Amino acid sequence: MREVRVRFAPSPTGPLHIGGVRTALYNYLFARKLGGKFILRIEDTDQGRFVPGAEQYIIESLTWCGIHFDEGVHIGGPYAPYRQSDRKEMYHQYALQLINNGKAYYAFDTPEELEVLRKDFESRKETFQYGPITRSGLKNSLTLPKSEVQSKLDAGEHYVIRIKIPEHETITVNDLIRGVVQVDSSLLDDKVLYKSDGMPTYHLANVVDDYLMKISHVIRGEEWLPSAPLHVLLYRYLGWEAQMPEFAHLPLLLKPDGNGKLSKRDGDRLGFPVFPLKWTDPKSGEISSGYRESGYLPEAFINMLAFLGWNPGTEQELFSMEELCHAFTIDRVSKSGAKFDVEKAHWYNHQYMARKAPAELASLLNPLLKAKNIEASEDYVQQVCMLIHDRVVLIPDLWSQSHFFFVDPDDYDATVTAKIWKPETSALIADFIPVLEKTEPFTKEALETNIKAFIQAKGIGMGQLMNPFRLAMVGTNAGPGMLDIATIIGRENTIRRVSRGIEKIKN
Ligand code: GLU
Repeated sequence: MREVRVRFAPSPTGPLHIGGVRTALYNYLFARKLGGKFILRIEDTDQGRFVPGAEQYIIESLTWCGIHFDEGVHIGGPYAPYRQSDRKEMYHQYALQLINNGKAYYAFDTPEELEVLRKDFESRKETFQYGPITRSGLKNSLTLPKSEVQSKLDAGEHYVIRIKIPEHETITVNDLIRGVVQVDSSLLDDKVLYKSDGMPTYHLANVVDDYLMKISHVIRGEEWLPSAPLHVLLYRYLGWEAQMPEFAHLPLLLKPDGNGKLSKRDGDRLGFPVFPLKWTDPKSGEISSGYRESGYLPEAFINMLAFLGWNPGTEQELFSMEELCHAFTIDRVSKSGAKFDVEKAHWYNHQYMARKAPAELASLLNPLLKAKNIEASEDYVQQVCMLIHDRVVLIPDLWSQSHFFFVDPDDYDATVTAKIWKPETSALIADFIPVLEKTEPFTKEALETNIKAFIQAKGIGMGQLMNPFRLAMVGTNAGPGMLDIATIIGRENTIRRVSRGIEKIKN
């Protein structure tokens, strides 16, 4: 069997969209599952769209996700270089080979001339295509005398090399997800393969590199499906049909309402990030949020993305990267677009947070504490994390769910206060302080016994004491068990907060 070699081939035209991360992920899983190699190739032939910092962003994003490469622009490998602009010299010979075989030709039409034609077609409600029907009336090496072509080339005139698309030929693409896709070649145009500035276009560079890098499977987004017939022709015309990779075009990632593709431009407009990491546009300075900075765990983010377009065929929803590598198969990738679901993204993150060991959670909470100049022992932070782990969705929730373990409440929820702090409550809580003072040891069990005795003696219900007690301790009516809170923050802090509460909570 052919060695499995797949590649992720992004163009550095901006931050990597989560759809791109998913493409990289599926390629990675495919390679891991089949013991193949995974390659990162940067496709930067379109220099006009080059965005500084994008390549580093792509690498940093995938590293954060735990998607690793065997070869690539950042680590080298046997087929280096892996950046197309560094491979510039390699492509010309293949463009010439196509010309010599009558499969491509020089075209000298200027952009202005083509624009006139385009407008002219438009005015007749038609679309201009440089192709089988029009090329015989245009300025190219198929129509001009050989000597004129040569003198134009010698004079250094601008030209492009275009593929010569055959007329009325059925081109077949075997897609591992979509099955057999057939296209009538007359629908295609004579795409530009090479420009006189010495740069290939995406199509030529992509096919040449996939061939030279011995790529066995091309797994990429559905938006490239219309280019696949052209690529199939290129393999045929270059004599590489036997080495042609297999194709798999992934379904689109859709907006939550299913109306259209989730695009880069959606940015934060829909209330969730579309990029893995925060991105600052180098030109406009515009900032787009990222999953990392929003407090998602990479393993949850990856698990969520894996399920946008693939499912294991079982009920299991939680998969580590390792498990995904075992479970992933291309035939379980769906044909139809996958709707992004922010609730599901939250659900995944919550699941992973809730399952983390206290030490891991502490390592996430510690930087938040440090930023607030709060000092606490590792043991204390871990105890807190153990109590709140199932209440946390995103990393910042580690703080919003735990702040009262570290600082006294600043203010007291007005609605809760109105409901539970009655005129007689201050006196009740004042009477409760001696109970706290005399509970020895200050443990949950001892507290529970003494509290029960206290409410019995007072002839009140548990809530009448515990609700105001919680309000004084936490500032609201939420949080883990009160006895846990009291014993963790300790007797002294508990008494101080309760006394402060009597002073400050006025209803
Ligand atoms: N450079 C293309 C992109 O930006 C790669 C498409 C492909 O994988 O062939 O998505």
